[in-house]
Amino acid sequence: MTVTFGDTRMPEHFWSKLTVTARGCWEMGNKPDAYGGFWLDGKAHGAHRIAWQRLVGPIDDNLDVDHVCRNRPCCNPSHLEPVTRQVNIQRAYSPSLEVAQRTHCTKGHELTADNVVKSKVPYKRCKTCHIDWITAKTFREIDEDDWLSYDD
Ligand SMILES: [Zn+2]
Ligand SMILES: [Zn+2]
Repeated sequence: MTVTFGDTRMPEHFWSKLTVTARGCWEMGNKPDAYGGFWLDGKAHGAHRIAWQRLVGPIDDNLDVDHVCRNRPCCNPSHLEPVTRQVNIQRAYSPSLEVAQRTHCTKGHELTADNVVKSKVPYKRCKTCHIDWITAKTFREIDEDDWLSYDD
């Protein structure tokens, strides 16, 4: 499925915020590993979700929109695929051995017993970063999907 960049079903301020990468990703936002947020009709949306809904079609309530390109800011529908939550979790949570055994998070916080949060992922998740992430959520549509897919 191909969607043309600049398709008029999305407003111009959507396209003007995207960065097209060499891999063909349409990146929304400036955080490398975060979902992009997008304001439309007075509401904050997950940019990839709203792009799919407007450019491809409705998303069934029990489906997550998965990034086939593994690039979270990407909103290119050709890189997205609605999948069941189960599949999305499986894909998101297959960490490398290195990640599974890490002692520090990607930002360098030590993963002591006090600094990990309970989660479904098979590796330690940094509490400090998790709290930061919750605090920064204002610009996003946070729903269960985003929560489950969150990864520090
Ligand atoms: Zn992509
Ligand atoms: Zn951390």
